[in-house]
Amino acid sequence: MLALEFIDREADGPLADAASATAWLAERRIRSALPPGSEPALAELRAAAESLLRAAAGGGRPSAAALDRVNAASAAAPVAEQLDWPGGGRPRRWLATSALPQAHVLALLARSAMALVADQPNRPLRECDAPRCGRIFIADNPRQRWCSKACGNRVRVARHASRHRHI
Ligand SMILES: [Zn+2]
Repeated sequence: MLALEFIDREADGPLADAASATAWLAERRIRSALPPGSEPALAELRAAAESLLRAAAGGGRPSAAALDRVNAASAAAPVAEQLDWPGGGRPRRWLATSALPQAHVLALLARSAMALVADQPNRPLRECDAPRCGRIFIADNPRQRWCSKACGNRVRVARHASRHRHI
């Protein structure tokens, strides 16, 4: 899910400058380029999206500022659904926008965060319980507390070690 990858710490490096952010987006099949100088807007939206997802995972509400930021990013790039029907091919829908590439990219990221928190009943968001992780993930079942097997194992090993230390 795009919004989860967007706020993940693993994206800190790739999203730090416009050129590598453009490459990061291309790997996710988003072909609009981010121009140099768009880093602050990207970082602001990223913080707002993270605030939305953490609020959803914790059962709370994000700040009004974070909500405004995400809504504004989406509103800055209105889209029109269009139909292509090539000769001999199948009809295909696509989204046209007259917005600049930067606004288009930020809107896609904002809408991904919106979809993720609004669809929450079916896809519960959680914050990983493992120490020093805190990653937001989609829980496959209601009892899942860790984002990955690695985190679960880390917690079990730590528990085991602390039990044995006290004996
Ligand atoms: Zn984790």
